Amino acid sequence: MHVQRSIGESLGIRCSSPFAPTVMHMPVFTPSHSAPPTASVHRYFHVVGSAVWVTEERQGEWPAHFLGMLEGVACWGIDVPEGHDPADGAAVDLRSFFGRAGEVEWLVAGRAVQLVEWARTHRFCGRCGTPTVQQDGERAMRCPACGLLAFPRIAPAMITLVTRGDTVLLARGVQFQGPMYSCLAGFVEPGESLEGAVVREVREEVGIEVGDVRYWGSQPWPFPHSLMVGFTATWKSGEIDIDPAEIVDAQWFRRDEMPPIPPSISIARKLIDAWLLAD
Ligand SMILES: [Zn+2]
Repeated sequence: MHVQRSIGESLGIRCSSPFAPTVMHMPVFTPSHSAPPTASVHRYFHVVGSAVWVTEERQGEWPAHFLGMLEGVACWGIDVPEGHDPADGAAVDLRSFFGRAGEVEWLVAGRAVQLVEWARTHRFCGRCGTPTVQQDGERAMRCPACGLLAFPRIAPAMITLVTRGDTVLLARGVQFQGPMYSCLAGFVEPGESLEGAVVREVREEVGIEVGDVRYWGSQPWPFPHSLMVGFTATWKSGEIDIDPAEIVDAQWFRRDEMPPIPPSISIARKLIDAWLLAD
C-alpha cells in the first residue's frame, strides 16, 4: 500500500509553507561514492553525450563513477567517450527519460549525467593546468602538482510561488517555448542567502516586493547542474512591471483562470499544484 507523506517529513524536515508538498511513497536512493563490497546486483547508467542508456550489464572499459544504492541495486555512471555509442542510438536525453522511468530512477540518471559531466570538465587543474587524478575516498579531482581539489559543482537556484489574496503570480520567461506560465526563478548570487535571492529576483523580474518567504521543498535539476530550492512568498507592495530582458508577460491568476503551466517533471508544477489544491 502506498503511503502519502510529505517530502519534508521523509527528510525529517518540517515544511513551514502553507502549501505542503506531498508525494507518494517512492523507492529509496542512498547516494555514496564507493560501492559496498556485498553489492551483487548492478545497474549501469551509460552517459552518451548527455543522454543515458541503462543496462544490467556494463559495456566497455570506460571510466565508472559509483552513484549509490537504489533499494539494494548498486548504480553506476559510465563515462562513454565521444565517438562511441554502445546504445546504437537508443540513449535518451534526461527530459525524455523522465517519461520512461520513475521519479527516483530519473534522479539517479541525473546524478550520473552530472558526475560524468563534472569529471569530463575537470580533467586539468584550474589553477596550474596539470592533469588531475581522482581523489581516494572522496568525490573530488585532485591536482598532483599543487594539491587543488575540485568538487562536483552545484548551482543553487531559487524558485518562488508568490500569492496575493486568492491569486498567484505566474510569468512567461523569454526563453519559454509556447504560451506556458510558471513561477519566478533565478540563480543565487555569491554572498547571498536563499531568502535574499527570492526577494531580489522577484523585485528585478516583476518589480514587486514580497514578504513571508518560506521554504517549500527542493529538487535536483540536472540541466546542467542546478539545485532548485522552492519557496512560497506573499505580495507586500507594488504593481507588476516586467523586466523585458527576462520576462515576456506576468499576471496574477485565479484558480479558475489558469494558463498553461509546466509539465510534472518540475518543482514549479508541484508548487503550483499544491497551491491549486490548497483552500
Ligand atoms: Zn594544480
